[in-house]
Amino acid sequence: MYIDSHCHINFPELAARLPEIFGKMTDNLVSHALCVSVNLPDFPQVLALAQQYPHVYASVGVHPDYEDTPEPSVAQLVALAADPKIVAIGETGLDYFRLTGDLEWQRERFRVHIRASRATGKPLIIHTRAAAEDTLRIMREEGAGTDAGGAGGVMHCFTESQAVADAAIAMGFFISFSGIVTFKSAKDLQAVARTVPLSHMLIETDSPYLAPVPFRGRMNEPGLVRHVAEAIAALRGVPVETVAQATTANFFRLFGIAPSAEAAGTGGTAEAAEAVQAAVGRAAPGQAT
Ligand SMILES: [Zn+2]
Ligand SMILES: [Zn+2]
Repeated sequence: MYIDSHCHINFPELAARLPEIFGKMTDNLVSHALCVSVNLPDFPQVLALAQQYPHVYASVGVHPDYEDTPEPSVAQLVALAADPKIVAIGETGLDYFRLTGDLEWQRERFRVHIRASRATGKPLIIHTRAAAEDTLRIMREEGAGTDAGGAGGVMHCFTESQAVADAAIAMGFFISFSGIVTFKSAKDLQAVARTVPLSHMLIETDSPYLAPVPFRGRMNEPGLVRHVAEAIAALRGVPVETVAQATTANFFRLFGIAPSAEAAGTGGTAEAAEAVQAAVGRAAPGQAT
């Protein structure tokens, strides 16, 4: 059993094919997916997906790449995170690769998310690109980690160095690997994937982006997360079941999902796939980002 800890199935290209996507999850033993928010205007759709499908969880937050979008306050994030299917705050963080210039607003937005995480006890989903030093500094300054009384979280789609992985783990954070770890050129990242303790590892697709080998360049989807686990298992010389079991258990532990909900979710996959067959068109793809 695998779990996709980070996807964007509310994006129109995926939302238009939900029955097929859930069917492929079932075929590939992917029991759950976490649909991650990127802005507030699309949050109602993200929440609706999680409320409608037992095997879908969701987060609330505003991505650092969205510049012209309503800015969230701590109180607003706390209020929107109240639904039990909202299991995390994010995605949030810093991105100095996609955006340049004065990015003080990004750092301030990141701090707001960390404060909301501390206030709700819900873990953070952190996006960091070309900004590792500032990301770690602000995490420390705001007490994001479990070592500082925060709720911790995950460094998603990890592409940073061993030192950054070690620093995040020391703060109680998890490291999530995406399809990038399957790319031949990703030698440094593969070295990190060999060392991260299984107790602190998650797997994700970040779909619709970053399809793993052998689907590189095509549209990604949660069912393909199995290939991420297989690549990590091969790198570490362990059975894929070892990676699957550890990352699945870590998902439930990090996001505080009770064993009863976990069981319901597992049973819900086939059920939801069937339900959705009857509900094609309800996804309203035109409304997504
Ligand atoms: Zn991201
Ligand atoms: Zn994402």
